[in-house]
Amino acid sequence: MYRVALFSWLAIFASTSVVALADAGGKSDWSYSGRTAPQFWGELNPSYSACGKGKLQSPVNFASSLIHKKDWPEIHMPTLTKSNVTVSKHTIQWTPVDEHKDQRFMVVKGVKYQLAQFHIHTPSEHHVDGLFYDAEIHFVHKSADGKLAVFGVFIEETKEDNPAWMHLLTNVPGMGKSKVVPTLAFLNEVEKMPARGGYFNYLGSLTVPPCNEGVNWFVAATPLRMSMHQINAVAKLIGFSARPVQFNTNLPEVADVPAAAAAADKKDQGSTQGSRASPMSSSDAEQTHTQTVVSHDATEWLTILVVGLVGVAVVAALFMVRVQGRKESGQDGGERMHKVPERDEEERV
Ligand SMILES: [Zn+2]
Repeated sequence: MYRVALFSWLAIFASTSVVALADAGGKSDWSYSGRTAPQFWGELNPSYSACGKGKLQSPVNFASSLIHKKDWPEIHMPTLTKSNVTVSKHTIQWTPVDEHKDQRFMVVKGVKYQLAQFHIHTPSEHHVDGLFYDAEIHFVHKSADGKLAVFGVFIEETKEDNPAWMHLLTNVPGMGKSKVVPTLAFLNEVEKMPARGGYFNYLGSLTVPPCNEGVNWFVAATPLRMSMHQINAVAKLIGFSARPVQFNTNLPEVADVPAAAAAADKKDQGSTQGSRASPMSSSDAEQTHTQTVVSHDATEWLTILVVGLVGVAVVAALFMVRVQGRKESGQDGGERMHKVPERDEEERV
């Protein structure tokens, strides 16, 4: 939740890995980047049309003010001891096959939804006030008549490994493989989550194609904690696997905090640029002014020089005329010396 920017970079890096894996593993029907990215899902296949045209799509960005603090959904999650684990291009999925598999369910408005499987996304698909977590686990429950209720749990990084999930995350097969393994996971931690910090509830869809709607979502507001080592173990396998948040007519649109923060940053940058622009302008003006002054001074000096030269020429001409006149009238050079102040006066004109 608090490493949004860092994980954004990791996500971009990871999405590249996903593309590489998808290419290596053959043609991918849909993905999280390139020509089969989420924005194109609706056009990839007629059966995916809800991805593009649906009005109740998931995931969404929750306003923290929408947290439910009462009427906790009834969730039963006994410890998982054995599951069929499948690693695909976009997720790791655990299907319980232990003796407690029928005892994991949730009850919503009197209807029982049996846990069918759970899987993980990195980073989280749902956002809260525009922020996302490091990962999100979806516990997919199904009713007898085929309706879906999904319980979502955010995962947040902490320093210590979470022992409750230690064996779950380490005992997984390779990419594209599936196997039944002893899987120790103390899921009772999960059943307490709604009551611990509240939950979000809305009617949405599958977050992957075919994006079918009518999914009753319950997302715990308080995250589970796992170490970066544990989260990375998953992220290394599946890469970036989060659909962008969708507009859902069941929920009010929430201002996306990172976007708002980015806008604020931009605004700050703008104002910084603005405040930089001002000094720059005044500096420019100053420079222009200085240049103007320099230019003005040069013109002045040029004018003075031209006027001076013209003056000198006029004085010289007058002097020559007078000298000529004196020569003609027989006056001496002494008198010429007296004419120097006169010449100075003529120069000043
Ligand atoms: Zn999911």
